[in-house]
Amino acid sequence: SFMGSFFSPHSIVSENLEVVVKAFSSSFVAQYIPQLARSNPQHWAVSICTVDGQRYSMGDVNVPFTLQSCSKPLTYALVSGMYGTEYMHNFIGMEPSGRYFNELCLDYNSKIQYLGRRHKASGSFHEEWLLTQAGKQRQRITRVSLCSYALTYALALGELSDVGVHSYVGMEPSGRYYNELCLGYNNKPHNPMINAGAIMTAALLKPDLSAADRFDFVFNRYKRLAGNEYLGFNNAVFLSEKECADRNFALAYFMRENKCFPEGTRLHETLDFYFQLCSLEINAESGAVMAATLANGGINPLTGDPVLTVDAVRNTLTLMHSCGMYNYSGQFAFKVGLPSKSGVSGCVLLVVPNTMGICLWSPPLDSNGNSCRSVQFCMEMVSRFNFHNFDNL
Ligand code: GLU
Repeated sequence: SFMGSFFSPHSIVSENLEVVVKAFSSSFVAQYIPQLARSNPQHWAVSICTVDGQRYSMGDVNVPFTLQSCSKPLTYALVSGMYGTEYMHNFIGMEPSGRYFNELCLDYNSKIQYLGRRHKASGSFHEEWLLTQAGKQRQRITRVSLCSYALTYALALGELSDVGVHSYVGMEPSGRYYNELCLGYNNKPHNPMINAGAIMTAALLKPDLSAADRFDFVFNRYKRLAGNEYLGFNNAVFLSEKECADRNFALAYFMRENKCFPEGTRLHETLDFYFQLCSLEINAESGAVMAATLANGGINPLTGDPVLTVDAVRNTLTLMHSCGMYNYSGQFAFKVGLPSKSGVSGCVLLVVPNTMGICLWSPPLDSNGNSCRSVQFCMEMVSRFNFHNFDNL
């Protein structure tokens, strides 16, 4: 079978368990609400669902946990499918950072943030010159868009190696924290993968329905994403989210002050809806089916149900790729090269487009807020299999 012949997650998982034990001394489960602070650090689950419906699961794959930030891409996909990308992005950006290209600032590692971005190269000079200069790198370089910074960067890599370059230059899109109290330069939340953008996404979804009908609506759609596998709601987490939400209230008021919301938005109801989305429960198996639906262009591979539109999936994967892993997003895109989204409960939804969805879950988090074991798993996976977006060019 597909699994047996070229992908054996079993070996990655078991070796991974040993590798990651070391990292655990400096990692903690999420502390910001008591319900998560009590989670068991030993839990560890890996579940895979391929686009042709094969399954592979290991570890605590039937133990429920809350979706938290992993709900962000799912709700974004639903909303952009229903109302269209253009409408949505009147209210929400698609920028990882919202920093001006030349803003006088360094990221949290005190490195220059990255070399990409800025204007396109002006003519064919760059291409011609590069074609003759770049030798072995030619294939690769002609595939990247003609942005002069990107080309210079590619050349520098050839000269210095990535370690040489990246001891001076970061690989983070943003340097912003996921819940930083700020808006992008166009006065919108930067993107739907961070809290401000996810609160806005919640505001856009079925605003005319009652709170109860909204919840029913979204629960039903999530259930279809999971092919009717496990989906629950954790009321204790919901209540404590609401109780410990000073920052999310601050973000919502800040957006209201800046007139970000569509007219008629009810702020407290929107926040409740956002907390409910964070408190939806899945397990690794149902999470893998959700990720597989994204990997399969929005059609649930087990039921054949077209839950999401093709455009919604493309946009969601794009933003997961650039913004899905908190302040590690740039490094994750660099090293793993796959769209993913993590949440504070220790889960990661990982998508290998056209191949499979993977759900990883282990509560201890690293200093970026990503599940230690899950990130380690992703690294090991792409070191062994060519799933990085830009492998095999
Ligand atoms: N409920 C959390 C919050 O809004 C979600 C954080 C996360 O998973 O990133 O702060």
